[in-house]
Amino acid sequence: HAKETGKSSCSFFDDKLLRESVRKVEIANAISTALVKDEFQVFYQPKVGPNGGIIGFEALIRWQSSYDGIIAPSEFIPIAEWCGKIGDITRYLISCVFREYRTIVKLVSTTIHISLNLSAHDLRDMSLIGFIRDEMVKNKVNPQHIEFEITESSYLENLENAALFLQEIGTLGSTVALDDFGTGYSSLSYLSQIEVDTLKIDHSFVKQLHESDKDRFIIQSIINLGISFSLNICAEGVETVSDRDALIDMGCHQLQGYLFSKPVPLGALAEALSAINRTNWQLKSHLSSN
Ligand code: C2E
Ligand code: MG
Ligand code: MG
Ligand code: MG
Repeated sequence: HAKETGKSSCSFFDDKLLRESVRKVEIANAISTALVKDEFQVFYQPKVGPNGGIIGFEALIRWQSSYDGIIAPSEFIPIAEWCGKIGDITRYLISCVFREYRTIVKLVSTTIHISLNLSAHDLRDMSLIGFIRDEMVKNKVNPQHIEFEITESSYLENLENAALFLQEIGTLGSTVALDDFGTGYSSLSYLSQIEVDTLKIDHSFVKQLHESDKDRFIIQSIINLGISFSLNICAEGVETVSDRDALIDMGCHQLQGYLFSKPVPLGALAEALSAINRTNWQLKSHLSSN
């Protein structure tokens, strides 16, 4: 009897594993179709300065698939890395963003940057540098307005390649942000060698800002560390006014999160920006009437 139970729970487990690997393979195949059928899209999320002004946008990929509707990047990016298609996706996204660059720059009157996410595999592909340079020239993109976000863990996974890759990014004139900072590693000694301009505080810390003293201390330590290395600090996942105020008090330079705007397609960006400006104006008139 016990044997039978063992057997059935085992086949249940096999079923789940089987379904997961089937989905993985199907998504891998669907990625090729998606690239040809233009199913990927870029959304942009504004980044705001401490005074409420727009300072940049993060480009985030979206996939409305004919295979299974909307599939999240957190699901398909690791699969694209696994099946070797991430390079094609990265190039697709870079081309889209650079083509839309002029339109985005015209939406704001100040100098802004646009950041793009790179995956760990991209950092081993030196031919990507040439591609980026060519696309910049073709679309008249100012390299100084482009920032590349790499996660702390993808940097630490390929120290040598990544150092070389980031050096080349620097030679192009673009900047680098360390994404999901604080979640990857315990020793920070590598920070003195890496060519990085911005630290992005992971939203897991921001989420707990008001509940956890420890997370608040971690945020303050990251900000202090960044300031002592002359780096910009960006906080992600800012969802409430009190998150925003606490982060500004702690010295954060850049704020990004649903409080200001969700990521939106280019066509909805102008409206998202005027909503942010309206809120700023209300906050300022509220302050001056007090
Ligand atoms: P990430 O680069 O750390 O991006 C931030 C994620 O937080 C985005 O999720 C964004 O939509 C979400 N977010 C922004 N504000 C808030 C907020 O206030 N609250 C909460 N809860 N979430 C917020 P998304 O777009 O699903 O992307 C997830 C991850 O997938 C990204 O994390 C990035 O690692 C990866 N990714 C997205 N687009 C690309 C891409 O074009 N290329 C590569 N290689 N990776 C990408
Ligand atoms: Mg990012
Ligand atoms: Mg992040
Ligand atoms: Mg993240």
